[in-house]
Amino acid sequence: MPDPSDRDRAISLARALAGDAAFRDALADLIAFPTDASQPDAPLQAYLRHVAHGFLAMGFTTQGYITEGRPFLVASRIEDKTRPTVLGYAHGDTVPGMAGRWAHGRDPWRLSEDADSGHWYGRGIADNKGQMLVNMTAMQAVLSARGRLGFNAHVIIEMGEEIGSPGLRRLCERLKPDLAADLLVASDGPRLDAASPTIFLGARGGASFRLCLKRREGGRHSGNFGGALRNPALELAHALATITTAQGALQVKGWLPDAVPDAARAALAGLTPAGGEIDPDWGAQGLTPAERIHAWNSAEILAFGAGMIAHPVNAIPDMAEAVVQLRYVPGIDDRDLGAALRAHLDAHGFGDVTITPEGPSFRASATPVDHPAARFAAASLGQSHGAAPVVLPSLGGSLPNDIFTELLGLPTIWVPHSYPGCCQHAPNEHLPKALLIQATGLMAGLYWDLGLASKSDLGL
Ligand SMILES: [Zn+2]
Repeated sequence: MPDPSDRDRAISLARALAGDAAFRDALADLIAFPTDASQPDAPLQAYLRHVAHGFLAMGFTTQGYITEGRPFLVASRIEDKTRPTVLGYAHGDTVPGMAGRWAHGRDPWRLSEDADSGHWYGRGIADNKGQMLVNMTAMQAVLSARGRLGFNAHVIIEMGEEIGSPGLRRLCERLKPDLAADLLVASDGPRLDAASPTIFLGARGGASFRLCLKRREGGRHSGNFGGALRNPALELAHALATITTAQGALQVKGWLPDAVPDAARAALAGLTPAGGEIDPDWGAQGLTPAERIHAWNSAEILAFGAGMIAHPVNAIPDMAEAVVQLRYVPGIDDRDLGAALRAHLDAHGFGDVTITPEGPSFRASATPVDHPAARFAAASLGQSHGAAPVVLPSLGGSLPNDIFTELLGLPTIWVPHSYPGCCQHAPNEHLPKALLIQATGLMAGLYWDLGLASKSDLGL
């Protein structure tokens, strides 16, 4: 019989490792690579070579790949083919450093510490370098405590997540037979709040559309023509107003799910999302704010333009345009979301408004809240933390999760180690040191338990 105190020892070791100067140094080394995904000369391959050393030291084999011009690393440790195989995922690229805009003159590519708050600063610490290091350190603790993981592991690290994950889908298609995993356990994105260990099981999808209404070439004098010429700005405003109610509840038929599943509703009961920055009366009626973000669909106007807003002139603008975005959970037919919007606008008499897809889109995908693997992970985190973790049916934002659920056919368990106030994608990106230590302990507990799990425990 496994000795339960061994589990505790693995967790204590993980926490000790994360609290050690060597962890801080390792994190500083990762942050020191200016891996801004938008820069053609960013040291993406050098970063992966550096990370590969860490995996090799833990008895993994590593293989580099280039797909669609982007480098990838796959690290693998096969212990016993009869044991479950866990796929991990992380990204080493970041958004731009935004040097010069950080408080106290902080260098984005240098780990720095605020002694008063206990926050560690650096570009990528939250998104996603620190989260990867937490998981690697937790694996290291389990390997030290047990001598093996107890499961087989593959970890994919990509370097283009911030620009839409080019090549990730093709790489996974190509490696599908070799990766042959049973479930995904990975870390990215924020917890519900800093103090609440969280699991999310997928991500909302996102699709944006540019709506344009052009009536003529050039403006017309608003006095000489006003009242007898169509104003595209007014018309588009009316068209946009049909997309939601005046309280923000989505109205486009093909964009609406049927219902919040009971298991999702139960998981979200009592949760306050978005760090509490919510308008309680905004959005779908009859749903809680947590259900609106994590189990329902929403449409936003991201941008809206007509005329010259900085210097209005006495003219009826010739055109107006807006960018509308849908965020959606699994359960709607998303093969042609533009057609659903087209039908909606046509039905409301706005057939002249053109619709074109704008920017990258992400498909919604999520593992059901009542999947055995989800329950297993929640129980593990609960045992380590002493209280049940937050379980979110979907992250509000988007991730390329459908590559794992649909292409690779895996249940997906995300255990995020960041929090809503971390300033990812902005100056002053940081994480509390205490969160990193706690998260490393939780992951050690989860990896420990996976090393004992049977495939049927995980619903496989
Ligand atoms: Zn990001």
